[in-house]
Amino acid sequence: PKLYQDVVATDARARQILDAIERETKNFSGQKIRIMNFCGSHENTVVQYGLRDLLPECIELVSGPGCPVCVTAAEEIALGLEVARRENVTLTTFGDLIRVPTPWGSLEQLQEEGADVRVIYDISQALQLARVSEREIVHFAIGFETTAPLTASVIREAQNIDNFSIISSHRVTPPAIEYVLANYQVDAVLCPGHVAMIIGVEPFRSLFNNRRIPYVISGFEPIDLLQGVLFLLQQLLGKMSANNNQYSRVVEEKGNELAQSLLTNVFTLTDAYWRGFDILPASRLILRPEYQQFDAQYRFGLQMPSKPEATETLCICNAILSGANPRECSLFAKACTPEHPSGPCMVSREGACHISYHNRE
Ligand code: SF4
Repeated sequence: PKLYQDVVATDARARQILDAIERETKNFSGQKIRIMNFCGSHENTVVQYGLRDLLPECIELVSGPGCPVCVTAAEEIALGLEVARRENVTLTTFGDLIRVPTPWGSLEQLQEEGADVRVIYDISQALQLARVSEREIVHFAIGFETTAPLTASVIREAQNIDNFSIISSHRVTPPAIEYVLANYQVDAVLCPGHVAMIIGVEPFRSLFNNRRIPYVISGFEPIDLLQGVLFLLQQLLGKMSANNNQYSRVVEEKGNELAQSLLTNVFTLTDAYWRGFDILPASRLILRPEYQQFDAQYRFGLQMPSKPEATETLCICNAILSGANPRECSLFAKACTPEHPSGPCMVSREGACHISYHNRE
């Protein structure tokens, strides 16, 4: 991190923005400013480039819930466990998800016991597998608006394939941002640029409308995030109130309309529990009735178990997803490491604990 931090600190453009941030913070007379960087990719840049140390002390950058693996409810993973136990089923998913511990075990454990659970990089590989396999191929799909359009497009492509289905744990981000704004004390939010690239600027505008909380849609380079912080400070001071899109080189006002129409054509929204939060209304993308044949829950009659009873645990993932620092957890880098994770925030490469672990000094 030190090396990367030096790179940023000595970059002329970054230095200029850091100086401007320093000047603006003088107007806050030492008052703490709590800014949430919503997504895991933001957190990765923040930690890797040591941005927290480069910013003035009064700015507290906290990470948010934008890690799809971390927020996926254990009971949804249980659907994957149930179907993967069936004869003649191959379950495909992404690497991080198979290691998430749940009260019913993990997909990795099931794989070790002999179930056919396979890690793939792209849902198209699952469809390809279905084309050449006699087995039922079930893909466990996760991710936000950035990955869901590809799932939608593969479902459309699968029309003549009768051994392919998905468990959709895709989530949409606005309900989570809404929950954060209503339940946590944050002074400003750095919103995810890649999500905005798909859904456009308007959903963010309406979310923050009527709330006196500034937001900036930000890119993922260190300079993007520093500039995002500067724009937020300027908004907090009543300057440049219209500048909410730092990532305008990629994010267009209306977003990607083709991807949006794929999403609305294939998916509908349902309420869903988010780990660390609550049941968030209309926040999970599930297949529309006309695509029911591809819905593994329907196809295999899978029943989602009830939310497990809260058990005593030292893991504070729930708090991490709303801004706590991984170092506040007594298990961090001791009993809990990426090799032996105790919670999803250490499993996922987008999880704050995993990111902190790999960038610790
Ligand atoms: Fe949970 Fe491990 Fe993170 Fe602690 S360090 S909050 S145990 S994932």
